[in-house]
Amino acid sequence: MSGSDRETGQMEEMQDPPEGEGRRMLLGDGTFRFACHPGVACFTRCCHDADMYLYPYDIIRLKNNLGMTSEAFLMNHTTTALRDMPYFPNVMLNMSDRPGKPCAFLSAAGCAVYEDRPYACRAYPLEPAMSGEGEGPMRMDCFLVRHSHCRGHDEERSWTGRDWMADQQMEAYNDVNGRWARIAGRFRSNPFGPAGVDSPAMKMAFMASYNMDTFRRFVFDSSFLSRYDVPPERLDAIRNSETELLLLGFDWIFRFLFGEGPLRARCDA
Ligand code: SF4
Ligand code: SF4
Repeated sequence: MSGSDRETGQMEEMQDPPEGEGRRMLLGDGTFRFACHPGVACFTRCCHDADMYLYPYDIIRLKNNLGMTSEAFLMNHTTTALRDMPYFPNVMLNMSDRPGKPCAFLSAAGCAVYEDRPYACRAYPLEPAMSGEGEGPMRMDCFLVRHSHCRGHDEERSWTGRDWMADQQMEAYNDVNGRWARIAGRFRSNPFGPAGVDSPAMKMAFMASYNMDTFRRFVFDSSFLSRYDVPPERLDAIRNSETELLLLGFDWIFRFLFGEGPLRARCDA
């Protein structure tokens, strides 16, 4: 995905993948060559007609960049679809309906939300995959993706996966997305009862994952704080950081749907 100053690459020491659309292979400790900048012939090509997931932390970054509420951002810039989680909708970034379906954030100079561009745009041509069980650390495997239209793979600069993620400032995203992956894994089976994806519980979990302005009101303007034991120092952090609010949302989902995790109901405390 394109940014006016983004440098991104192609496989080098790794065995070259077969040509074709969207070839994907495990990067492991290998390196790849890549650079993305206004000089590549395909500049902004990938910012058209993209089928892109947005993750909870993406929404926070984007809606704040645009000065929108999370509600307005979700309404104006996203659609939901049941994709890899049969019991919980994925949030997808809308493309504009202009010719060629460019991303709504694509300007003549490149990405207009570059500092807060979504995780998928930062990571490309890598696709990090998180996995893990229980409370242990999440494992991240990086796959290298190669689309035939992407000329960034012809550039000289060489990267390890770790160097690439640091260059693209992915660390904060990796941390929150790892926690999200733990929840998303649980949504592959149905925790919502017979009403499934139409249940009120699903709507509450969706709100706590994607709609921070509404979730903030739910935390501070309902009986939430009399029902759950949130230490004062965590409450201060939540007041000052939507990322901390989101992490509370994740803990709350684990508590009210699965009866697990560090957030305790006051009657349990
Ligand atoms: S958010 Fe930016 S980098 Fe991502 S598709 Fe849109 S314009 Fe391209
Ligand atoms: S297709 Fe590849 S090189 Fe071209 S703009 Fe997109 S990421 Fe950059």
